[in-house]
Amino acid sequence: MAIERTLSIIKPDATRRNITGAIVARFEEAGLRVVAQRRAHLTQEQAEQFYAVHRERAFFEDLCTFMTSGPVVVQVLEGEEAISRNREVMGATNPANADEGTIRRDFGESVEANSVHGSDAPETAAEEIGFFFSQIDIVG
Ligand code: ATP
Ligand code: MG
Repeated sequence: MAIERTLSIIKPDATRRNITGAIVARFEEAGLRVVAQRRAHLTQEQAEQFYAVHRERAFFEDLCTFMTSGPVVVQVLEGEEAISRNREVMGATNPANADEGTIRRDFGESVEANSVHGSDAPETAAEEIGFFFSQIDIVG
């Protein structure tokens, strides 16, 4: 098994309800370490750039509006197989389809306001980490 890093975002629905600590506890219980963390309020331009892969999707505009609707917490998580482990802890995109005990099942409000983002592959993890953090910000 390999130690990986992945980009996590605690989304505006979660900061609004003051449950960022409860979400971080789920990551730590799963063996993921927070090796960088910052609170941010994304601009429309940043949200559109971050989610550019979904530009053609019907939900793109709503998603960018939601992601800029309040502060987020951006984080780098580190651990064994961190990318896939984080995706497991997050659960399915739609909280209604997410397994019991996952973050999205327990905290998500809707398919859009689903509390967390996590990178989906090594290439996207590296790109997304670089979008928010410099090497000097990450302390393993
Ligand atoms: P994320 O990339 O945020 O970790 P994901 O990889 O599970 O989530 P994606 O398909 O990449 O899901 O979608 C990105 C985000 O867009 C979702 O997390 C959700 O907030 C939003 N989204 C996805 N599908 C829909 C939809 N059908 N309607 C509204 N919003 C959606
Ligand atoms: Mg995704």
